Amino acid sequence: MKLIEVIHEATQQCHDEIEEEGGIIIHNPSVEDSYEFIKLTNQNTGKALAPVLWTADQQEYADKILPRVMKGERHFASFHTHPRFLAIPSTIDLSQLFPGFSINMIYSQTTNRISVWETDKEFHTTFSTVYEGTSDGFVEHKDINAVVA
Ligand SMILES: [Zn+2]
Repeated sequence: MKLIEVIHEATQQCHDEIEEEGGIIIHNPSVEDSYEFIKLTNQNTGKALAPVLWTADQQEYADKILPRVMKGERHFASFHTHPRFLAIPSTIDLSQLFPGFSINMIYSQTTNRISVWETDKEFHTTFSTVYEGTSDGFVEHKDINAVVA
C-alpha cells in the first residue's frame, strides 16, 4: 500500500478515546508502495500511563516486527495516538519513545492531524510533515503551524 493509505488505515485501527494506541509502519525497500501498518499493544494498557504514553509491547514487537526485519523489510516509522492532545510530542515521547526510532508519527484525534518527527543520531528531534484529515483521507502539508494551531 502507499504510505498515505497506510497512515489512514492506522488512524482507523487506533481510535481509543482515552488510551494511546499505536504500532509500526514497515516497508520493503525493493518494492514500491509496500508500506504496511502493524498495530502493537500499548504496554501501558489499563494503567495510569496509557492516556499519556504509548510503549510498544516488547514481546509483540519481537514476534511481529523482528521476523519481517530479518527478511529485509525496514522499520519505517513508529505511529501512536494522542486521543486528547495535539499532535505534539510529549516530554516522555522525546525522552523515551523517539530515541528508539528515526521517524515518529503522532495522530491527534482532537484535530484529526498527524505530525511526523525525525530524530537524528544525537537525539535531536525536528518536525518534518503534517497530514491533515479530510473526508477523502489525509492530505500532506509542510507547515508546523497546522500542527500547533
Ligand atoms: Zn505521544
